[in-house]
Amino acid sequence: MESSGTAPESSPLIACAFIVISGKPATPIWAHGVGCATGKHCADALNAYRTWFGHGHCVRAVSRLVISQRSRPITPIDTSILIDHLESLVAFDTRNGSGDEMICVRYLEETLARFSPDQLYVAQVPRSRGKSDSGYVLAIWGQPETLLNVHIDTVPSGAGWTADPLDLQRQSDRVVGLGTSDIKGAAACILAALEVVTPKNVAVLFSGDEEHGSEIMPAVIASGRLDDVKRAIVCEPTSCRVGRAHRGMLAISAGFTGPGGHSSLSDITARPLLDAARLAAKIGDYADDHLEFGTAPFQGLCVNIGEIESDGAYNVIPTTAKLWFSLRPPPGDDVRKRESEIYDLAEDAELDTIVAFAPFASKDISAFSDVFGETEIVDLPYWTEAAMLSQAGINTVVYGPGNLEQAHKPNEYVEITQLEQAAQHYAIALKGKAS
Ligand SMILES: [Zn+2]
Repeated sequence: MESSGTAPESSPLIACAFIVISGKPATPIWAHGVGCATGKHCADALNAYRTWFGHGHCVRAVSRLVISQRSRPITPIDTSILIDHLESLVAFDTRNGSGDEMICVRYLEETLARFSPDQLYVAQVPRSRGKSDSGYVLAIWGQPETLLNVHIDTVPSGAGWTADPLDLQRQSDRVVGLGTSDIKGAAACILAALEVVTPKNVAVLFSGDEEHGSEIMPAVIASGRLDDVKRAIVCEPTSCRVGRAHRGMLAISAGFTGPGGHSSLSDITARPLLDAARLAAKIGDYADDHLEFGTAPFQGLCVNIGEIESDGAYNVIPTTAKLWFSLRPPPGDDVRKRESEIYDLAEDAELDTIVAFAPFASKDISAFSDVFGETEIVDLPYWTEAAMLSQAGINTVVYGPGNLEQAHKPNEYVEITQLEQAAQHYAIALKGKAS
């Protein structure tokens, strides 16, 4: 049995915690505190757990617990203030392609200034491929041993929303809006935690461009302002579990050209589309040769032949053809070595590396036990900027409210219980290690 905390000494020792009874004979298998010292969210938490356990367990009975005093006190996060912060953040249009991330960065600069950091940096950073500038704000209290990082950009909202995606909708157990799950919810959690804790030897970094090229984090690292940081928590939607590893990402385009012409001349004319297709087949063979590479759950290279484009027709030899493909090297693999092998395979193609992101694995997950206790540890199916911080020598994990099923889709939402739970852990991190 595990609880994420206990009620403050002055209040009754009752919290939102439940025993989940499963199987025959009925056996208590798990209980979890959700960080509510008053019990006012018991009904919401109960429903959340029923939904959660409904997938893997038959929930036969659930009961409320009285928790005995433990050493780690619950920080009294105000949920309504947390959601107010989230409403403000969601209202900023930071959609890739159309939004303005710097306006949100400036707003967060003002907000962080209220919590009296010893140092507060803002930087506007140019981006490649015609994108507008983005940037970051970094607040530091004391000697920053721990870093909390959240990206403030979102993916485009797309079709299918039943309300304005930038207008936060409050429902009984969740809040709906663009970026609530990925990952403005975590930014709101950190701001709500800052309202009630005194930060110590910690840095908070809100940065842009994560969803569309990750060109800001390298600028932060290059600034040298993270040089003292020993460990980092990168906030991404993990359902409040600790992410310890994920794959890298290598995306490449390969171009082919020729003079074009009537298809009756194809035996004696360069055939760009055929060359592109042959390269696609070669890369497919390379993928098949590596199906057993790596260890579960990261076996294989996840090679994807994404698209071939040309200007030909069945009776017209094309003048150009372009192939796009990607692969995802497992933790411990060398993305630059993969890139070099692919370039060797491609021979005469005109190659362009779109992204070459390293895989990620935490260096020492036990260094986070004071923050996360017995929280479940998982491997992640998606890439994060934890890889960049880890490459910079910082011991890093990934943790945040929300999950992939709720993010990057119409009516994105995050459960309020997850926001409360994440805010508790961020509050512990903000308070610094006990000396
Ligand atoms: Zn994200």
